[in-house]
Amino acid sequence: MDELGDVVVAETTLQARIVELGQQVTEDYADRSPLLVGVLKGAFMFMADLARAIRLPVEFDFMAVSSYGSATKTSGVVRIVKDLDLDLSDRHVLIVEDIVDSGLTLAYLRRNLLARNPATLEVCALLVKDGLQRVDLDLKYVGFTIPPEFVVGYGLDVRERHRNLPYVCVYEGD
Ligand code: 5GP
Repeated sequence: MDELGDVVVAETTLQARIVELGQQVTEDYADRSPLLVGVLKGAFMFMADLARAIRLPVEFDFMAVSSYGSATKTSGVVRIVKDLDLDLSDRHVLIVEDIVDSGLTLAYLRRNLLARNPATLEVCALLVKDGLQRVDLDLKYVGFTIPPEFVVGYGLDVRERHRNLPYVCVYEGD
């Protein structure tokens, strides 16, 4: 497929880092039971692998957001397409995000979830694009910092395609 460019994070690198993140979460949340909140659809694969690397009783919930804009640019205006099923009050909530670009989606989510009174609220982002953030993000866990290019794979799509690639690569189509 010639619309797929250079590999940005290879499968083995990705998996090794996720194991490390899981260990870190396990240590940090010892004796607590975090509620993992996955941001659909992009984070589904990361959520599944991260959860298997966490050695604690965890619970799951998912939320779907859509940001207005073109396929490859976010506008920062976010709409909740599917809300959480669970009550967040007094829970130790860990937002699991696929990728942070401008940071606007995450800033919105954080504000929205904080208003539901969790005991703690932290963020685990697999990928963070270098230097693009316009807001202070305060990310507790980051998998990789990557160059500011549009990428697909490992949950990330373009028009719903390429989510099933086991690695992350640059998208060169239009
Ligand atoms: P932000 O609000 O941080 O600018 O954008 C975050 C959202 O935009 C992500 O959750 C993801 O849905 C989408 N996004 C940002 N960068 C990329 C990218 O390089 N590839 C894909 N497939 N989606 C991206």
